[in-house]
Amino acid sequence: MAEKRPLVFNVQKFSVHDGPGIRTTIFFKGCPLACPWCHNPESQRFEVERMERSDGGQDEVGTYYSVAELVRQAVQDQIFYERSGGGVTLSGGEVLAQPMGYIAELVRALAEKGISVGIDTSGAVPFTAFEPVLPYTDFFLYDMKLFDAERHRQYMGQGNRQILENMKRLSDAGAGLYLRLIMVDGVNTDGDRDIRPFQDWLQAQQIRVERIHLLPYHELGRHKYEALHRTFQPFHAPSGQALEAIRQSFAVLGYDTVIGG
Ligand code: SF4
Repeated sequence: MAEKRPLVFNVQKFSVHDGPGIRTTIFFKGCPLACPWCHNPESQRFEVERMERSDGGQDEVGTYYSVAELVRQAVQDQIFYERSGGGVTLSGGEVLAQPMGYIAELVRALAEKGISVGIDTSGAVPFTAFEPVLPYTDFFLYDMKLFDAERHRQYMGQGNRQILENMKRLSDAGAGLYLRLIMVDGVNTDGDRDIRPFQDWLQAQQIRVERIHLLPYHELGRHKYEALHRTFQPFHAPSGQALEAIRQSFAVLGYDTVIGG
């Protein structure tokens, strides 16, 4: 029987925020988490959806592609990847919650073409989802939202034990890890409550990361909630000063830490 295909909601060429160099980012549709500040709400559900356009029409979100078609699109820009140190990033939604036979075949096919592959993940999947892609994936953009398990459950709909365990296992396996911390004012930016306990855990577990990116919350997804007829919940970005203090608190511990993607 043919492997089930995942839905793709966007193939973005010339992306410069999803890993090093110029990249093609492929966004898969469907995610096990439900972050209330998600700026791609059309990425959350595993089924095709309709979004209203500003002219009153509707767009269908979610397309099935064969692995060969995605590889064909990615290869078109190979020269740019080679010149810039870029490649392909698989993002979402959650890549590793998709049919893994398909994802593993895609990652392997890209790697065999000599294309660097990165995977953007929330880590909220069984470690068995990482295993087939691990040998072919150059790095993981590992999104971390909240260290406290109960507050993680409160905001994201489930705890974070699996996310932390997977981070540790990837680090121990020598995977390239770029931690991406979404910074939401008043939610995960308090030094004593949020930042220091996470730093203590990173150090105690000897997690090795290439770099930490502090990504301030933004409202660019607001219109998408309206287009999907869903309720937009407003949050706020921390001040530049607060972000810089957090950046320094990681930097003094020896982590290469930057603000932004
Ligand atoms: S993990 Fe990412 S894609 Fe999934 S709901 Fe959260 S922000 Fe959205």
